[in-house]
Amino acid sequence: MAVQVSNNYPKQATDCGPILNQYLDILIIGAGPAGISSSLYLAEKGYSPALIDEAEFPRDKVCGDAISGEGLRVLKSFGLMDAVEQSGRKYNKKELNLGLDNFITMENKAIGLPRKVFDNILLTRAINSGVRFSVKRFTGRIYSKTIHNGMETPAKEKNSTKAGRSSTGKKADGFGNNDYTVEVLCPKTLQKSFITARYIIIATGCQSDTVFSRMDTEKFAKPDQAACRGYYRAAWPVSERKYFFLQELNPGYSWIFPLGNDVFNVGCGGKILKVRKLNLKQCLDEFIQATNKRYTCGGEWLQPPQSAFLRTNFSNLKALKKYPNIILAGESMGSTYPFSGGGIGKALTSGIIAAQAIDAIILRKSPHKTLSEIYTETINKKMKPSYYTAFTLWNHLLTQTPLEKFIYKRVFKSHRSPDVIANILSKKTTPDYLFSLKNILKYLFFK
Ligand SMILES: Cc1cc2nc3c(=O)[nH]c(=O)nc-3n(C[C@H](O)[C@H](O)[C@H](O)COP(=O)(O)OP(=O)(O)OC[C@H]3O[C@@H](n4cnc5c(N)ncnc54)[C@H](O)[C@@H]3O)c2cc1C
Repeated sequence: MAVQVSNNYPKQATDCGPILNQYLDILIIGAGPAGISSSLYLAEKGYSPALIDEAEFPRDKVCGDAISGEGLRVLKSFGLMDAVEQSGRKYNKKELNLGLDNFITMENKAIGLPRKVFDNILLTRAINSGVRFSVKRFTGRIYSKTIHNGMETPAKEKNSTKAGRSSTGKKADGFGNNDYTVEVLCPKTLQKSFITARYIIIATGCQSDTVFSRMDTEKFAKPDQAACRGYYRAAWPVSERKYFFLQELNPGYSWIFPLGNDVFNVGCGGKILKVRKLNLKQCLDEFIQATNKRYTCGGEWLQPPQSAFLRTNFSNLKALKKYPNIILAGESMGSTYPFSGGGIGKALTSGIIAAQAIDAIILRKSPHKTLSEIYTETINKKMKPSYYTAFTLWNHLLTQTPLEKFIYKRVFKSHRSPDVIANILSKKTTPDYLFSLKNILKYLFFK
């Protein structure tokens, strides 16, 4: 049975008409948080972007469904807070369980809303703001020449068309040799068609990376984390988000996020490591059994657990170097933070930065820079934490088995430092605090 949190979907966002054999200023591929935020931002700036997704909406996305800090700020800027709050569940706190009787509660606002509803609210808002949406699957085939009815047309012929002007009259700098033509399929009929655009944002997440094997990528990074979640009904006395840092998942955790009416988004996930094979479904089963035992009650899956990947660490920021006018946003770029996550908010933010970079190029704000140069610089400046190197080091050290055990034992279970872990998770403390000489000595010689 599919989880039914609400049947009141806003206006159904399905196929809004074909975008076939057309010239576009801006094409965005993938209607997750990253793709929708970039298209919405551009539509509000007066452009007429086209957005395609292989799925008909509303569609599910395997996720913990918790939209926190950064995500909420972006929703506010789009005037979407009311819609999201009305459909979702408000959280004020999160509880970090670092051992059986060792937990910390932190003030932390967030909203729990199944992605099926959340993404549909975003998409409906984008369509209402003028984004042209169409259900199409990008195949990964991309040409630097125009394709007309399956025949290549030399790029220079495109200059004689009226292409490049959006419905609002903003001109995308004249179409020419930098255009790309992408091959797309109608997912139902598999009918092939082509879309030519000057600027392209690819925001296809990280569940269908096969498209990138057809592109000329540079050091394309695979997903580095895996997680699994389902919707479970039980009379657990849990009203705020709970995270459990279990040793078998480290670096990773399991979670319980209440959605109301005794329905919980329950899941677990961790870093993909060569040294271990995580059976996430088994971990989740054991976690559910332990939780039922803890609260002396039973429950049932409303929607059984499904697994999905995550990509963190901005690992693909430069992967499309060879395509100066195409950029990756969201998890296809690796926008999620290692360790502390926040994927929805990070995807929304990277989408906006991608859109701002296109706006800057079209308005010639930085005449000597390419689109990908402007984008990369801004992501480095605005998204990477100031303690990024320490963060990466921390993440790396946790993947070395002996050190991982050591850190788990001495830090995660230490009664002296639960607040440190909480503060690192909420990015208040820099992870290099743990590696100060004082702390290393403390963890080595004191219990
Ligand atoms: C189990 C799990 C739990 C998580 N929990 C949380 C959480 O609680 N909070 C949080 O903030 N983050 C969470 N995340 C991370 C979050 O889900 C992602 O960071 C976020 O969805 C990334 O957004 P995106 O727009 O980059 O990609 P996605 O949301 O994956 O969207 C990509 C879109 O591209 C479309 N697409 C893919 N391929 C093609 C193609 N070839 N052609 C056309 N369209 C295509 C897809 O249909 C999809 O609509 C979780 C992730 C997992 C796996």
